[in-house]
Amino acid sequence: MTGSLWDWHDANGFTRLINVSGTMTGLGASVTGPAAQKATAEAMGHFVKMHELQEHAGRVISRLTGAEAGCVTASASAGISLCVAGCMTGLDPSRAEALPADPGPRDTVVTQAGHLCHYGAPVETAVGLTGGKLRVIGQSTQCADHQLEGALDDSVAAALYVVSHHVVHYGQIPFARFAEIAHRAGVPVIVDAASEYDLTGFIEQGADLAIYSGHKFLSGPTSGIIAGRRDLVRAAYLQNIGIGRGMKVGKESIMGLVAAMEAWMSRDAAAIRAAERAALDEWQAAVADLPGITARIVPDPTGNPLDRLQIDVDPQEAGANAAVFAAAFGQQNPAIIVRDHEVELGYFQLDPCNLLPGQQSLVTDALRRVLGAGSEGMDQAEADPRNGAIRGYLEWGLG
Ligand SMILES: *Cc1c(COP(=O)(O)O)cnc(C)c1O
Repeated sequence: MTGSLWDWHDANGFTRLINVSGTMTGLGASVTGPAAQKATAEAMGHFVKMHELQEHAGRVISRLTGAEAGCVTASASAGISLCVAGCMTGLDPSRAEALPADPGPRDTVVTQAGHLCHYGAPVETAVGLTGGKLRVIGQSTQCADHQLEGALDDSVAAALYVVSHHVVHYGQIPFARFAEIAHRAGVPVIVDAASEYDLTGFIEQGADLAIYSGHKFLSGPTSGIIAGRRDLVRAAYLQNIGIGRGMKVGKESIMGLVAAMEAWMSRDAAAIRAAERAALDEWQAAVADLPGITARIVPDPTGNPLDRLQIDVDPQEAGANAAVFAAAFGQQNPAIIVRDHEVELGYFQLDPCNLLPGQQSLVTDALRRVLGAGSEGMDQAEADPRNGAIRGYLEWGLG
C-alpha cells in the first residue's frame, strides 16, 4: 500500500476509504481538481463585492447551461428552496422577508407523486422551508396530463420536476410535456437536475429554472447552481435577504465552482470514459470465475454518460447475499464503499466516476478477497443499508 494515498486519513485518524458508490454527501461529495482547489484557496485571501462575484459566476453558468442567467447557491437542495421562494415572491423584498411565515397568495408547488424522492432529505422539505405547500398529483407509479392540468390554479407558484435515479421511471409525465402543460397555464417550471450531466437539455426543453449540484459530477466545492430565466433567477437570488441566509454560499465555494465549471467545459470526456471503462473491465474480469457472482456493465438509469459494474449475487452459490457482501466491503481496510441502494434486488454496483489514482487495483484485490470468501467472516447485522443511513446520524456524537 502506498503511503501517500492515505497520509491525510492516517494523520487525522479517519477511516481509509475508496468511494465506488458515486457522489455521496456522506462521503464528502466529491474531490475537486487542482484548478478548483487553487481558486478556492485564493478566494479565501480577499474581500470582494459578493454581487460582483455572483454576476461573474452567473456569466459562466450561462455559458455552461445556455440559460439567460444564473447564480450559485450553497447546494442543490438550497437551490430548490430559493427557486420555489423566488417563484412565490417575485422581486418583492417585503414578500421575500415575509417567508416562511407568510407565503402569500401563490403558495403552492405542483409535483408528481413519483418524484417525491429522498436524496438524503425529502424533496418535500426543501419546498416546505419556504412556507409554501406541495400539491402532489398522480400516484407513485402514474401521472396523467389531466392531473397536472387540473392542479394548475391561481394559487400555483411553480411546477417542480425531479430528475434522479431515486424517482419512479415509468408512468410519469415526460419533461417536455410537463413544461408545455405548465406553460399553457402560465406556471413556471423548476427542474431539479442535481445529479444530471446534461446541463443544457432541460433549459432547451423549456425549464424556467434548472438546478444542479456543484459538488456532484462537476467536482466543485460544496455548492449548487441555479440557471434559467433572468427574472426568476433574480427573484431566487433575492431570497438571500430571507430564508436563504441560513443557506449562504461563501466566496471560496463560488470561485471554486467557477473553476470547476471551466474545467468541465474543457475536459477530455472521451479519455475520462475510457479510464472508467478500463476499471470496469478489470473488475468484471476479476470476478468472472467466482461462484454465484455475475458481473455486467450497465448504463446509468437517467442516461448520464456513465456506466457501472453491476454484481448480481446468487446467495446459495456465493455463500452470502448482496446486502451482506456490500456491508463486508465497507469493513475492509481501506473500506470499499459500494453502491448498495438496490441491494434487496440481489445486486450492488461499483461506480468508477470517483476513483482516485492508485485505487483501481485495491478494488480489484478486495473484490476477489471478499466475494471469494463466501460467508466467512460476514457480519449479517451490518447488512442493512436502508436503516444504516439514519443509524449513522443517531449514533453520531456519542463519543
Ligand atoms: C443530490 C441531489 C439533491 C441534493 O443536492 P445537494 O447539492 O447535495 O443539496 C437534490 N436533488 C437530487 C435529485 C439529487 O440527486
